[in-house]
Amino acid sequence: MSARILIIEDEADLARTVAWALGREGFTVGQALTGKQGLERLEDEPPYDLVLLDLMLPDLSGTEVCRQIRMNPRTRDTLVLMLTARGEEIDRVVGFEVGADDYVVKPFSTRELALRIRALLRRTQAAPTEGGLLVGGPVRLDVDGHRCWVGEEPVALTATEVKLLARLMARRGRVQTRAMLLDGVWGRESDVNERTVDAHVKRLREKLGAGQAHLETVRGVGYRFSDEPVENGDEQGVP
Ligand code: CA
Repeated sequence: MSARILIIEDEADLARTVAWALGREGFTVGQALTGKQGLERLEDEPPYDLVLLDLMLPDLSGTEVCRQIRMNPRTRDTLVLMLTARGEEIDRVVGFEVGADDYVVKPFSTRELALRIRALLRRTQAAPTEGGLLVGGPVRLDVDGHRCWVGEEPVALTATEVKLLARLMARRGRVQTRAMLLDGVWGRESDVNERTVDAHVKRLREKLGAGQAHLETVRGVGYRFSDEPVENGDEQGVP
């Protein structure tokens, strides 16, 4: 499956060159010439995995676009790679403050850019293993086959628990808020609330046994799956 990338960049020549190069690298690439157009495409089109966001845009600033991406439940989890000009030191810091995941300084080679994009996607996406298998620490999850193991021990999970764990493992290293899990696992239409998420995570952690050290409660925020075991120190497992 090829990752979807949206380029928001008003320099049309640069945008075209980057789109062409990333297309050759196997990415699916969309383009927007203004911040407003970019936000509209993010809202209307199938979800993008990563946004290449120019800091200096004619209408909205890159930081404002990034802020809006982070505020929208639909896109708050989307990776943002900021494109900055040399010397935009302050704006660069601001870029991180508003939640960009990384930045690249212009001029850059498209090869360098592709490497940075791959590194970001690798950091956050499903482990690239065969057959829809997610692996993290001792936990292996066969999403399609609805089977889970911790070490050599099979663990029986419900369909909801498989979806919940798959979501957490696929987004490993990033905190998932209860609202995000609610959206991603149960869907917006459902009538469950965030307490339901907590209850399911609690049951999931009990079932995972030794694997539960990889499912961290991030107090006040939500949950995070990590490849490395984490000391939780929270008996309830509720953020
Ligand atoms: Ca620009």
